[in-house]
Amino acid sequence: MPLSEPLTEDTLGRPLRNLRISVTDRCNLRCAYCMPEEEYTWLPRARILRFEEITRLVRIFQGAGVHRVRLTGGEPLLRRNLDRLVAQLAALEGLEEVTLTTNGLALADLAADLAAAGLARITVSLDTLRPKRYRELCRRDGLERVRAGIAAARAAGLPLKLNTVVMRGVNDDEVPALLDYAREVGAELRYIEYMDVGGATRWDQRRVVDRAELLERLEQAHGPLTPEPTRGNAPAERFRFADGVRIGIIASTTSPFCDSCDRARLTADGRLFTCLYGREGLDLLGPLRAGESDERLGERLTRTWRERSARGAVERLALAERRALAAKPELDDDPHLEMHTRGG
Ligand code: SAM
Ligand code: SF4
Repeated sequence: MPLSEPLTEDTLGRPLRNLRISVTDRCNLRCAYCMPEEEYTWLPRARILRFEEITRLVRIFQGAGVHRVRLTGGEPLLRRNLDRLVAQLAALEGLEEVTLTTNGLALADLAADLAAAGLARITVSLDTLRPKRYRELCRRDGLERVRAGIAAARAAGLPLKLNTVVMRGVNDDEVPALLDYAREVGAELRYIEYMDVGGATRWDQRRVVDRAELLERLEQAHGPLTPEPTRGNAPAERFRFADGVRIGIIASTTSPFCDSCDRARLTADGRLFTCLYGREGLDLLGPLRAGESDERLGERLTRTWRERSARGAVERLALAERRALAAKPELDDDPHLEMHTRGG
């Protein structure tokens, strides 16, 4: 974007910089904090954005200020030939990086192609190192495959992060062990507070292990931590141990970062959400398939960002009594409320 062009800022002066794209709402796991139910309403296949449509939309988003794109889902590696989309996006002039968040199940076979296509970095979600617990928490088998995927990502030279959602009484006893594993594979580990997002129908405050407790437990196990300067508007607060190993904490539940949030989310069927907790999204698929010009589509999304005032996580924090964001019938009526639809 030329420097002379005005930034697209929302009503609170927050620019639009990051775009997270859910390339599919389907998933091959059923993690307890994300998809705890037995049945789901899926987006109709015919409405899922094709790679060319995604690339065109990203170009338009670049015009509104987007510098970085993260592909997510559902499970993004379920999209066949995802490396082709990565290559299309990586070739866009001015886009700083294309990254990916995955559960890693299919990564062993795909890591080399993704790296060759221009993927800049990869984040693998991993909440336990114990096979039985993995099966209980994710409700499918696969820990060995994820570990093989992580090894393949390393072999392909992809800078690696691990995401761990910490739940009290579920996997919080593995906080130090997961760090040992992250060190072993050369990854930066980010501990994520369990969030009361759509989809997390079993959310309960008592299961949240907050930032303060996480820091305390880490220091007990591994020694003192020093805060690191945060990179841009990244959601993770970073800390360093004396030996130089870094970790991140994403404390969206108890210390929200809404005031610096510069990210938009695009669902697999082209709906734009400007907040993870937002109820209403802007449909871009309809106008796109009706033949609207890039310019008009750009005006639509720019207007939506300029009107943005959402501080969803801050509002949740202010609630006197906090429980799951949405109940199952609401999610069945509108799958766009689901975390796996809007990408996390
Ligand atoms: N399937 C991919 C994966 O699991 O990495 C990408 C999609 S997933 C929705 C993106 C991220 O959201 C994952 O790191 C996952 O752990 C996180 N997530 C899902 N539900 C969450 C919740 N209730 N609280 C905190 N993080 C959550
Ligand atoms: Fe788990 Fe990611 Fe699938 Fe959600 S989308 S169930 S976090 S693997």
